[in-house]
Amino acid sequence: MLTEADGQAAGLRQQVRDFLAGHEPAAMPRLEFLRARFDAGLAWVHYPAGLGGQGLSRSLQGAVDAEFAAAGAPDNNPARIGIGLGMAAPTILAFGTQEQKERWLRPLWTGEEVWCQLFSEPGAGSDLAGLATRAVRDGTGWRVSGQKVWTSIAHVARWGLLLARTDPDVPKHAGLTYFGLDMTQPGVEVRPLRQLTGEAEFNEVFLTAAAVADTDRLGAVGEGWRVAQATLMNERIAIGGGALPREGGMIGLAAAAWWEHPEARTPGLHDRLIRLWADAEVARLAGARLRQQLAAGQPGPEGSAAKVVFARLNQDLSAFELELAGAAALAYDDWTLRRPDSVSFFGRGPGYRYLRSRGNSIEGGTSEILRGIIAERVLGLPAEPRTDTKVPWKDLPR
Ligand SMILES: Cc1cc2nc3c(=O)[nH]c(=O)nc-3n(C[C@H](O)[C@H](O)[C@H](O)COP(=O)(O)OP(=O)(O)OC[C@H]3O[C@@H](n4cnc5c(N)ncnc54)[C@H](O)[C@@H]3O)c2cc1C
Repeated sequence: MLTEADGQAAGLRQQVRDFLAGHEPAAMPRLEFLRARFDAGLAWVHYPAGLGGQGLSRSLQGAVDAEFAAAGAPDNNPARIGIGLGMAAPTILAFGTQEQKERWLRPLWTGEEVWCQLFSEPGAGSDLAGLATRAVRDGTGWRVSGQKVWTSIAHVARWGLLLARTDPDVPKHAGLTYFGLDMTQPGVEVRPLRQLTGEAEFNEVFLTAAAVADTDRLGAVGEGWRVAQATLMNERIAIGGGALPREGGMIGLAAAAWWEHPEARTPGLHDRLIRLWADAEVARLAGARLRQQLAAGQPGPEGSAAKVVFARLNQDLSAFELELAGAAALAYDDWTLRRPDSVSFFGRGPGYRYLRSRGNSIEGGTSEILRGIIAERVLGLPAEPRTDTKVPWKDLPR
């Protein structure tokens, strides 16, 4: 029996075919095609009409994407604009004005404008609310000064999701405001930071009286912490809740390594592989359930669990793969200092995956911090006593 969702999916597939009849992918420039797809409401179907979607369930997106892929249509290279799609867009949708949504969402989705996340600072990572970057009023806008760090993809970004202190005289969570920052202006200096993998995927960003229009503020003055929570919840889902086919992703690579290296097999490794396979399958199915819940609105703290599991699995799977490959895996494939514009675990050797996955339990909130969130906000366990010994923002100029 056909469900309502089946009927909607069939209707969407027909819409895609009608769209393709008037927009031959091979006959038009890629960007023009993507803009037209957005304008037709076939970009992200769960977004509102007029903003690339049709206000439908997020679970219907797969049918649309599959239809476009089958026709050989270009996509928006989601790996390159992961922060935009996974974090900036839902934050703009939830807190932006209509003008901001219309200005930012279309070029974000087409990939014309890359977004980065200017949250972490040298003195504020896990304790993000203790950040010291200062935004002060300047006429009708703001001037921002300070230093951000670990800013992935800032070297190709057009916009930054900026969390800054606008009032140093109130409790730390209450003095923050959230902005979209133009990364291409002279007050923004982006310097590469080389990481364990040899690449400089992230950067440090120095802000010197960088200008922000008040119309680029997301949420009210002093409401930055609430807006940032939306970004962080979405970040955890974006990192840990991705859709994969069975035996897709890192478990697929580990299983392939098992077939490639019969000489390295032992009963112990076989047992480990089976356990990892089962864990990966549980994580995949739990991710599917999480995405269904998401269709109803903004994600809650539950996404933290998906992110913790993702990090642990990636680290265990990459270690397994390395062990199977034996001594050959220790020859690292490429230690050139590159500044990639996207991050992928595929297309590189097992050594890269092993090293890059170390960061998975740090980025988007460390596993220790996320376990605290799960304990307090999902399981309802008593909160740990808080201490505020490190308050660099107390000395900020008034
Ligand atoms: C690959 C990668 C990409 C990143 N990209 C970005 C980005 O694009 N934008 C951005 O803003 N940031 C980014 N980050 C930064 C990341 O969010 C921070 O590194 C992270 O939040 C931890 O902050 P920290 O490095 O200051 O460590 P700290 O907060 O100093 O923590 C150090 C250690 O202490 C533990 N710890 C701290 N407080 C507690 C506590 N209360 N209870 C228990 N344990 C605790 C932590 O778990 C950690 O093990 C990225 C990081 C990585 C690794």
